Amino acid sequence: MKLFTVGPVQMYDNTLKIGGQQTPYFRCQEFSDVMLRCQDNLLKLLDTDTSQFKAVFLTASGTAAMEAAICAVPKDKKVIIINGGTFGTRFVEICNLHGIEYIEVKVNSDEDLSVEHLNKIDTTDCFALVVNIHETSIGKLYDKELIKDFCKKNNLHLICDAISSFLADPYSLDSFPADITIISSQKGLALPAGIAILVIKNDYYENYIKDSKSTSYYLDLNAHSINMKRGQTPYTPAITIIHQLDDRLTQLLNTGIDNELKHREELASYFRANLPANYTIPNYSLSNCLTPVICTKNNAKLIYEELKNNHNIFVNPCGGQNADRIIRIGHIGNLNKDDFDELIKLLGGF
Ligand SMILES: *Cc1c(COP(=O)(O)O)cnc(C)c1O
Repeated sequence: MKLFTVGPVQMYDNTLKIGGQQTPYFRCQEFSDVMLRCQDNLLKLLDTDTSQFKAVFLTASGTAAMEAAICAVPKDKKVIIINGGTFGTRFVEICNLHGIEYIEVKVNSDEDLSVEHLNKIDTTDCFALVVNIHETSIGKLYDKELIKDFCKKNNLHLICDAISSFLADPYSLDSFPADITIISSQKGLALPAGIAILVIKNDYYENYIKDSKSTSYYLDLNAHSINMKRGQTPYTPAITIIHQLDDRLTQLLNTGIDNELKHREELASYFRANLPANYTIPNYSLSNCLTPVICTKNNAKLIYEELKNNHNIFVNPCGGQNADRIIRIGHIGNLNKDDFDELIKLLGGF
Protein backbone atom coordinates (compact mmCIF):
# COMPACT_ATOMS: atom_id res chain seq x y z
CA MET A 1 0.00 0.00 0.00
CA LYS A 2 1.18 3.50 -0.76
CA LEU A 3 -0.42 6.62 0.68
CA PHE A 4 -0.33 9.95 -1.13
CA THR A 5 -2.96 11.16 1.30
CA VAL A 6 -2.60 13.95 3.87
CA GLY A 7 -3.31 11.97 7.00
CA PRO A 8 -2.57 9.29 7.83
CA VAL A 9 0.52 9.30 5.61
CA GLN A 10 3.32 6.85 4.79
CA MET A 11 5.12 6.20 8.06
CA TYR A 12 8.85 5.75 8.59
CA ASP A 13 10.32 2.33 9.48
CA ASN A 14 11.29 3.41 12.99
CA THR A 15 7.72 4.52 13.67
CA LEU A 16 6.39 1.15 12.53
CA LYS A 17 8.93 -0.66 14.68
CA ILE A 18 8.00 1.25 17.84
CA GLY A 19 4.33 0.62 17.05
CA GLY A 20 4.97 -3.13 17.22
CA GLN A 21 6.39 -3.04 20.74
CA GLN A 22 4.79 -3.48 24.15
CA THR A 23 3.25 -0.22 25.40
CA PRO A 24 5.19 0.66 28.55
CA TYR A 25 3.82 1.96 31.86
CA PHE A 26 3.64 5.74 32.05
CA ARG A 27 3.15 7.13 35.56
CA CYS A 28 6.88 7.15 36.14
CA GLN A 29 9.87 9.44 35.73
CA GLU A 30 11.04 7.63 32.59
CA PHE A 31 7.85 8.52 30.73
CA SER A 32 7.85 12.07 32.13
CA ASP A 33 11.33 12.46 30.67
CA VAL A 34 10.01 11.38 27.27
CA MET A 35 7.13 13.87 27.44
CA LEU A 36 9.38 16.75 28.48
CA ARG A 37 11.85 15.89 25.73
CA CYS A 38 8.97 15.88 23.20
CA GLN A 39 7.97 19.34 24.41
CA ASP A 40 11.55 20.68 24.18
CA ASN A 41 12.24 19.19 20.78
CA LEU A 42 8.92 20.26 19.30
CA LEU A 43 9.49 23.85 20.44
CA LYS A 44 12.95 23.74 18.87
CA LEU A 45 11.34 22.99 15.50
CA LEU A 46 9.19 26.11 15.77
CA ASP A 47 12.07 28.57 15.50
CA THR A 48 11.52 30.68 18.57
CA ASP A 49 12.70 31.39 22.08
CA THR A 50 11.50 28.09 23.51
CA SER A 51 11.28 29.49 27.05
CA GLN A 52 8.25 31.56 26.03
CA PHE A 53 6.06 28.62 25.06
CA LYS A 54 4.68 25.39 26.47
CA ALA A 55 3.09 22.39 24.78
CA VAL A 56 0.20 20.21 25.88
CA PHE A 57 -0.50 16.80 24.43
CA LEU A 58 -4.09 15.63 24.05
CA THR A 59 -4.98 12.08 23.22
CA ALA A 60 -7.42 12.75 20.42
CA SER A 61 -7.42 13.71 16.78
CA GLY A 62 -6.65 17.27 15.71
CA THR A 63 -10.22 18.51 16.01
CA ALA A 64 -10.04 18.10 19.80
CA ALA A 65 -7.18 20.59 19.89
CA MET A 66 -9.26 23.00 17.79
CA GLU A 67 -12.08 22.60 20.31
CA ALA A 68 -9.73 22.92 23.30
CA ALA A 69 -8.42 26.23 21.94
CA ILE A 70 -11.94 27.57 21.45
CA CYS A 71 -13.09 26.31 24.88
CA ALA A 72 -10.26 28.37 26.37
CA VAL A 73 -11.42 31.63 24.76
CA PRO A 74 -12.83 33.84 27.53
CA LYS A 75 -16.63 33.58 27.44
CA ASP A 76 -17.38 37.25 26.87
CA LYS A 77 -14.94 37.61 23.96
CA LYS A 78 -15.54 37.64 20.23
CA VAL A 79 -13.29 35.98 17.65
CA ILE A 80 -12.77 36.39 13.91
CA ILE A 81 -12.77 33.12 11.95
CA ILE A 82 -11.25 32.84 8.48
CA ASN A 83 -13.46 30.32 6.72
CA GLY A 84 -12.27 29.08 3.34
CA GLY A 85 -13.41 25.46 3.49
CA THR A 86 -14.48 22.59 5.69
CA PHE A 87 -11.83 23.14 8.36
CA GLY A 88 -12.76 26.82 8.67
CA THR A 89 -16.39 25.74 8.94
CA ARG A 90 -15.38 23.40 11.74
CA PHE A 91 -14.18 26.36 13.82
CA VAL A 92 -17.50 28.08 13.13
CA GLU A 93 -19.40 25.01 14.33
CA ILE A 94 -17.26 24.69 17.46
CA CYS A 95 -17.89 28.36 18.32
CA ASN A 96 -21.62 27.85 17.78
CA LEU A 97 -21.63 24.88 20.13
CA HIS A 98 -19.71 26.67 22.86
CA GLY A 99 -21.53 29.97 22.52
CA ILE A 100 -18.45 31.93 21.48
CA GLU A 101 -19.40 34.98 19.46
CA TYR A 102 -17.62 35.28 16.12
CA ILE A 103 -17.30 37.16 12.87
CA GLU A 104 -16.94 34.83 9.91
CA VAL A 105 -14.74 35.88 7.00
CA LYS A 106 -15.61 33.76 3.99
CA VAL A 107 -12.90 33.14 1.42
CA ASN A 108 -14.31 31.87 -1.87
CA SER A 109 -12.83 28.69 -3.27
CA ASP A 110 -11.06 30.41 -6.21
CA GLU A 111 -9.55 33.36 -4.33
CA ASP A 112 -6.73 33.96 -1.88
CA LEU A 113 -7.24 35.64 1.46
CA SER A 114 -6.54 39.31 0.78
CA VAL A 115 -6.23 42.60 2.57
CA GLU A 116 -9.71 43.46 1.22
CA HIS A 117 -11.24 40.56 3.17
CA LEU A 118 -9.60 41.77 6.35
CA ASN A 119 -10.21 45.49 5.95
CA LYS A 120 -13.97 44.88 5.84
CA ILE A 121 -13.99 43.49 9.38
CA ASP A 122 -15.23 45.61 12.24
CA THR A 123 -12.70 44.54 14.86
CA THR A 124 -14.34 46.41 17.74
CA ASP A 125 -14.51 44.08 20.77
CA CYS A 126 -12.67 41.31 18.92
CA PHE A 127 -10.26 39.25 20.97
CA ALA A 128 -8.56 36.88 18.54
CA LEU A 129 -8.29 35.78 14.95
CA VAL A 130 -8.76 32.06 14.35
CA VAL A 131 -7.38 30.48 11.19
CA ASN A 132 -6.44 27.16 9.59
CA ILE A 133 -3.27 28.48 7.99
CA HIS A 134 -3.50 25.77 5.33
CA GLU A 135 -7.14 25.02 4.45
CA THR A 136 -6.56 21.35 3.71
CA SER A 137 -9.96 20.69 2.14
CA ILE A 138 -8.93 22.57 -1.01
CA GLY A 139 -5.20 22.92 -0.41
CA LYS A 140 -5.06 26.68 0.06
CA LEU A 141 -2.29 28.33 2.05
CA TYR A 142 -3.08 31.73 3.57
CA ASP A 143 -0.63 34.62 3.64
CA LYS A 144 1.02 34.64 7.07
CA GLU A 145 2.41 38.19 6.71
CA LEU A 146 -1.05 39.54 5.96
CA ILE A 147 -2.56 37.82 8.99
CA LYS A 148 0.28 38.79 11.28
CA ASP A 149 0.12 42.47 10.28
CA PHE A 150 -3.65 42.56 10.67
CA CYS A 151 -3.47 41.02 14.15
CA LYS A 152 -0.74 43.39 15.21
CA LYS A 153 -2.52 46.46 13.90
CA ASN A 154 -5.78 45.50 15.60
CA ASN A 155 -4.34 44.10 18.79
CA LEU A 156 -5.74 40.64 18.20
CA HIS A 157 -4.55 37.37 19.63
CA LEU A 158 -3.87 34.66 17.11
CA ILE A 159 -5.07 31.06 17.26
CA CYS A 160 -3.61 29.08 14.38
CA ASP A 161 -4.45 25.56 13.26
CA ALA A 162 -1.20 24.60 11.53
CA ILE A 163 -2.06 20.91 11.41
CA SER A 164 -1.43 20.34 7.73
CA SER A 165 1.21 23.04 7.27
CA PHE A 166 3.64 22.25 10.09
CA LEU A 167 6.69 20.44 8.64
CA ALA A 168 5.52 21.19 5.08
CA ASP A 169 5.83 24.98 5.00
CA PRO A 170 8.07 27.27 7.07
CA TYR A 171 6.40 28.00 10.42
CA SER A 172 8.37 30.26 12.70
CA LEU A 173 6.84 31.48 15.94
CA ASP A 174 9.38 34.28 15.91
CA SER A 175 8.03 35.76 12.71
CA PHE A 176 4.45 34.52 13.06
CA PRO A 177 3.66 34.98 16.75
CA ALA A 178 0.62 32.73 17.29
CA ASP A 179 -0.60 32.55 20.88
CA ILE A 180 -1.83 29.02 20.22
CA THR A 181 -0.56 26.74 17.46
CA ILE A 182 -2.37 23.48 16.81
CA ILE A 183 -0.54 20.40 15.53
CA SER A 184 -1.67 16.80 15.05
CA SER A 185 0.24 13.53 14.88
CA GLN A 186 -1.02 12.06 11.61
CA LYS A 187 0.01 14.81 9.17
CA GLY A 188 3.57 16.11 8.71
CA LEU A 189 4.84 14.18 11.71
CA ALA A 190 3.81 10.98 9.91
CA LEU A 191 2.60 9.18 13.04
CA PRO A 192 -0.65 7.35 13.69
CA ALA A 193 -3.66 9.58 14.45
CA GLY A 194 -4.25 10.06 18.16
CA ILE A 195 -2.08 12.86 19.53
CA ALA A 196 -3.10 16.51 19.11
CA ILE A 197 -0.77 19.20 20.39
CA LEU A 198 -1.33 22.80 21.42
CA VAL A 199 1.72 25.04 21.60
CA ILE A 200 0.71 27.89 23.89
CA LYS A 201 2.50 31.17 24.52
CA ASN A 202 3.23 31.46 28.24
CA ASP A 203 1.80 35.00 28.42
CA TYR A 204 -1.44 33.83 26.88
CA TYR A 205 -1.62 30.95 29.34
CA GLU A 206 -1.02 33.23 32.31
CA ASN A 207 -3.59 35.81 31.19
CA TYR A 208 -6.42 33.72 29.81
CA ILE A 209 -6.13 30.06 30.78
CA LYS A 210 -4.54 29.74 34.20
CA ASP A 211 -7.27 31.34 36.28
CA SER A 212 -10.29 30.60 34.13
CA LYS A 213 -12.72 27.73 34.37
CA SER A 214 -12.84 25.43 31.36
CA THR A 215 -16.17 24.38 29.89
CA SER A 216 -14.72 20.99 28.96
CA TYR A 217 -13.52 18.34 31.39
CA TYR A 218 -11.28 16.35 29.04
CA LEU A 219 -10.04 19.32 27.04
CA ASP A 220 -9.22 21.56 30.01
CA LEU A 221 -5.96 23.19 28.94
CA ASN A 222 -5.18 24.31 32.45
CA ALA A 223 -5.36 20.77 33.84
CA HIS A 224 -3.15 19.61 30.98
CA SER A 225 -0.65 22.44 31.49
CA ILE A 226 -0.38 21.82 35.24
CA ASN A 227 0.28 18.10 34.66
CA MET A 228 2.73 18.86 31.88
CA LYS A 229 4.97 20.77 34.31
CA ARG A 230 6.10 17.34 35.50
CA GLY A 231 5.82 15.70 32.07
CA GLN A 232 2.47 14.04 32.67
CA THR A 233 -1.09 14.20 31.37
CA PRO A 234 -4.30 14.17 33.47
CA TYR A 235 -5.54 10.99 31.75
CA THR A 236 -3.82 8.06 30.06
CA PRO A 237 -2.22 9.33 26.86
CA ALA A 238 -1.64 7.39 23.64
CA ILE A 239 1.65 6.22 25.15
CA THR A 240 2.94 4.40 22.10
CA ILE A 241 2.34 7.41 19.85
CA ILE A 242 4.22 9.59 22.34
CA HIS A 243 7.18 7.22 22.00
CA GLN A 244 6.87 7.38 18.23
CA LEU A 245 6.71 11.17 18.46
CA ASP A 246 9.84 11.25 20.59
CA ASP A 247 11.67 9.25 17.93
CA ARG A 248 10.37 11.39 15.02
CA LEU A 249 11.28 14.65 16.72
CA THR A 250 14.81 13.39 17.37
CA GLN A 251 15.09 12.37 13.72
CA LEU A 252 13.77 15.73 12.55
CA LEU A 253 16.26 17.63 14.68
CA ASN A 254 19.06 15.49 13.26
CA THR A 255 17.87 16.11 9.71
CA GLY A 256 17.38 19.81 10.43
CA ILE A 257 14.09 21.60 9.86
CA ASP A 258 15.46 23.42 6.79
CA ASN A 259 16.39 20.15 5.09
CA GLU A 260 13.02 18.65 5.93
CA LEU A 261 11.19 21.64 4.45
CA LYS A 262 13.44 21.59 1.40
CA HIS A 263 12.58 17.94 0.80
CA ARG A 264 8.84 18.74 0.90
CA GLU A 265 9.30 21.72 -1.39
CA GLU A 266 11.23 19.58 -3.87
CA LEU A 267 8.59 16.84 -3.89
CA ALA A 268 5.77 19.36 -4.38
CA SER A 269 7.61 21.24 -7.16
CA TYR A 270 8.66 18.03 -8.89
CA PHE A 271 5.13 16.67 -8.91
CA ARG A 272 3.63 19.96 -10.12
CA ALA A 273 6.22 20.39 -12.87
CA ASN A 274 5.65 16.86 -14.20
CA LEU A 275 1.89 16.67 -14.01
CA PRO A 276 0.59 15.02 -17.21
CA ALA A 277 -1.78 16.78 -19.64
CA ASN A 278 -5.48 16.71 -18.64
CA TYR A 279 -4.57 18.01 -15.21
CA THR A 280 -4.22 21.57 -13.99
CA ILE A 281 -3.50 23.25 -10.69
CA PRO A 282 -5.56 26.07 -9.11
CA ASN A 283 -4.23 29.64 -9.19
CA TYR A 284 -4.39 30.31 -5.45
CA SER A 285 -1.36 29.85 -3.19
CA LEU A 286 -0.47 26.31 -2.30
CA SER A 287 1.19 24.55 0.61
CA ASN A 288 3.96 22.02 0.12
CA CYS A 289 1.74 19.63 2.06
CA LEU A 290 -0.42 18.78 -0.92
CA THR A 291 -1.32 19.60 -4.50
CA PRO A 292 -4.98 19.98 -5.43
CA VAL A 293 -5.16 18.50 -8.92
CA ILE A 294 -7.99 19.57 -11.20
CA CYS A 295 -8.96 16.65 -13.44
CA THR A 296 -10.12 18.37 -16.63
CA LYS A 297 -11.96 15.21 -17.73
CA ASN A 298 -14.01 15.34 -14.52
CA ASN A 299 -12.88 11.83 -13.65
CA ALA A 300 -11.48 12.49 -10.16
CA LYS A 301 -13.67 9.92 -8.44
CA LEU A 302 -12.79 7.29 -11.03
CA ILE A 303 -9.06 7.97 -10.66
CA TYR A 304 -9.33 7.67 -6.89
CA GLU A 305 -11.20 4.36 -7.18
CA GLU A 306 -8.92 2.82 -9.80
CA LEU A 307 -5.70 3.78 -8.02
CA LYS A 308 -7.11 2.22 -4.87
CA ASN A 309 -8.60 -0.91 -6.38
CA ASN A 310 -6.00 -1.74 -9.03
CA HIS A 311 -2.77 -0.36 -7.59
CA ASN A 312 -3.29 -0.16 -3.82
CA ILE A 313 -2.43 3.53 -4.04
CA PHE A 314 -4.42 6.07 -2.05
CA VAL A 315 -4.89 9.71 -3.01
CA ASN A 316 -7.27 12.11 -1.27
CA PRO A 317 -10.68 12.48 -2.86
CA CYS A 318 -12.62 15.72 -2.36
CA GLY A 319 -16.14 16.10 -1.07
CA GLY A 320 -19.21 17.91 -2.36
CA GLN A 321 -19.03 19.86 -5.60
CA ASN A 322 -15.36 18.97 -6.12
CA ALA A 323 -15.85 15.20 -5.94
CA ASP A 324 -15.45 14.67 -9.69
CA ARG A 325 -13.20 17.65 -10.28
CA ILE A 326 -10.34 17.51 -7.81
CA ILE A 327 -8.06 14.93 -6.22
CA ARG A 328 -5.52 16.01 -3.62
CA ILE A 329 -2.03 14.55 -3.70
CA GLY A 330 -0.08 14.66 -0.44
CA HIS A 331 3.66 15.31 -0.29
CA ILE A 332 4.18 14.57 3.41
CA GLY A 333 5.36 11.39 5.09
CA ASN A 334 7.88 8.80 3.95
CA LEU A 335 7.78 9.55 0.20
CA ASN A 336 10.48 10.35 -2.32
CA LYS A 337 10.83 11.22 -6.00
CA ASP A 338 10.56 7.59 -7.15
CA ASP A 339 7.13 7.35 -5.58
CA PHE A 340 6.04 10.42 -7.50
CA ASP A 341 7.48 9.07 -10.75
CA GLU A 342 5.23 6.05 -10.35
CA LEU A 343 2.17 8.15 -9.54
CA ILE A 344 2.79 10.58 -12.40
CA LYS A 345 3.06 7.64 -14.81
CA LEU A 346 -0.22 6.19 -13.58
CA LEU A 347 -2.01 9.56 -13.72
CA GLY A 348 -0.90 9.87 -17.34
CA GLY A 349 -2.98 6.78 -18.15
CA PHE A 350 -6.39 8.21 -17.23
C1 LIG B 1 -6.39 17.10 9.46
C2 LIG B 1 -6.77 18.46 9.91
C3 LIG B 1 -7.41 18.68 11.14
C4 LIG B 1 -7.75 17.58 12.10
O1 LIG B 1 -8.65 16.68 11.66
P1 LIG B 1 -8.85 15.35 12.52
O2 LIG B 1 -9.62 14.47 11.61
O3 LIG B 1 -9.59 15.71 13.76
O4 LIG B 1 -7.47 14.86 12.83
C5 LIG B 1 -7.70 19.97 11.51
N1 LIG B 1 -7.37 21.00 10.74
C6 LIG B 1 -6.74 20.85 9.55
C7 LIG B 1 -6.39 22.06 8.76
C8 LIG B 1 -6.43 19.57 9.11
O5 LIG B 1 -5.79 19.41 7.94
